[in-house]
Amino acid sequence: MKLRATSQDAAHKDMSPLFIGSEVYRRSAYGRNHPLAIPRVETAVALCRSVGWLEQGMVESPAADFATLTRFHDPDYVAALFEADRAGFVPAEARRRYNIGTLENPVFPGVFERAATAVGGSILAARRALEGRIAYHPAGGTHHARPGGASGFCFLNDPVFAVLTLLDAGLGRVLYVDLDAHHGDGVEDAFAADSHVFTISIHESGRWPGTGLRGDLRQGRARNLPVPPGFNDSEFSFLIDEAVLPLAARFCPEAVVITAGADPLAGDPLSKMDLSNVAVWDAVMKVTATARAAVVLGGGGYNPWTVGRFWAGLWGRIAGYALPACLPDDARALLAGLSCDLIDDEDVDPNWLISLSDPPNPGAIRDDIRSLRDEVLAP
Ligand SMILES: [Zn+2]
Repeated sequence: MKLRATSQDAAHKDMSPLFIGSEVYRRSAYGRNHPLAIPRVETAVALCRSVGWLEQGMVESPAADFATLTRFHDPDYVAALFEADRAGFVPAEARRRYNIGTLENPVFPGVFERAATAVGGSILAARRALEGRIAYHPAGGTHHARPGGASGFCFLNDPVFAVLTLLDAGLGRVLYVDLDAHHGDGVEDAFAADSHVFTISIHESGRWPGTGLRGDLRQGRARNLPVPPGFNDSEFSFLIDEAVLPLAARFCPEAVVITAGADPLAGDPLSKMDLSNVAVWDAVMKVTATARAAVVLGGGGYNPWTVGRFWAGLWGRIAGYALPACLPDDARALLAGLSCDLIDDEDVDPNWLISLSDPPNPGAIRDDIRSLRDEVLAP
C-alpha cells in the first residue's frame, strides 16, 4: 500500500527528511528478562515498510570510533565496555566502577557495536540536520549514560553527541527537548555549564532517576517539568503550547534535538503517564518547527506494540505521509506476533494490533500543571 505524501508537516523544511537506521538493531540485545529485550526499532522499520514509507530507504548509521567516543566518555570506560563485549565477561572491579554487567545494564554480545552505532547515527543525524532537513534516528535517545559509566539501560550518550556536533558546526544556541517519561539527566548534566545549550525535560515525577525536580533551573540553562501520573493529552499539549514553545521562542534556537521516548504513552509498563501517540507526534512536529535544523531521536519505551507504532507513525508525520486508517495484513500479522513479559495478554489493547494511531486521551488540566507552566516561564 502506498500512501501519498502530504506537505502538511514537511512544508517548513525545504529538503526531504531522513531516516537513519542500522541492521545492528535487528539483532537480539539485552539478553533475557530485561525490559529492552523486545523488538523496538525493527518493529517501527517493518511497519514503515509495510505502509510504503521507506521506499527511499534508510541511511545506514556508521559506528563512532574510539577517538570520537572519548570526546564525552572517559577513555577507561570506553575501553572497559569494548573489552567486556569482546570477552563476554565483566570483571567485578569494572562492574562496580562502570555500572556494566549488572541486571540494569547487562553486557550482551554486540553491546559495544550497538551503542557506538547509536552514537554514530546521532552524529550523522546532526550533520544532516545542519543541511536544513529533519533527521530521524529512532535508535538514539540513550539519555542517561554518563561520561564514566552506564546508567538506566544506556551505555553511551548519543543525544550528547548530537548536540556536540551541532555546537562544533558553530551554532550558538542548541535546544534539547526530552519527552521521555524519565528525566533526561545525562544530557542536562553534560551541558549544565554550557550557555549555548538550553535543556527542557518533561517527565513523570517520582520516577527513576529522581532528578529533574520542579524548580531545578541549572543556573537558568534548564527547565524541568515533572508531571503527575495520569498525565493526559490536554495537559501535555497545554505544556507544549504554553511552556515549551514560549521557552523555545525566548531562546531562539538554531537547532533542536528531541528525545522522543515511547514510555510516556498509555500502556507502557514502566511509567504511569497516559498519552496517546497522536499527542506526542503533534508535540514533536511543533518542537521541530522552532529551529532550522532538527534531530529527532527515540528513547525509552517498554511496550513493543506502543513503541513500534509510535516510532513508525512519527516517521510518517515527519516525512509528511497521511496516516492509514488501518494497517495492511502483514503489519497486523507482525503486531499479532509480538509478546511482552511485562504485559498480561488481557491488557493488550485490540487497537494496538490493527492501527497506528491511538484514540486521543483528552482530560482536565490539573491546577498543578497550570502552576508548573507559570513556574517555568517565570524569569
Ligand atoms: Zn524513559
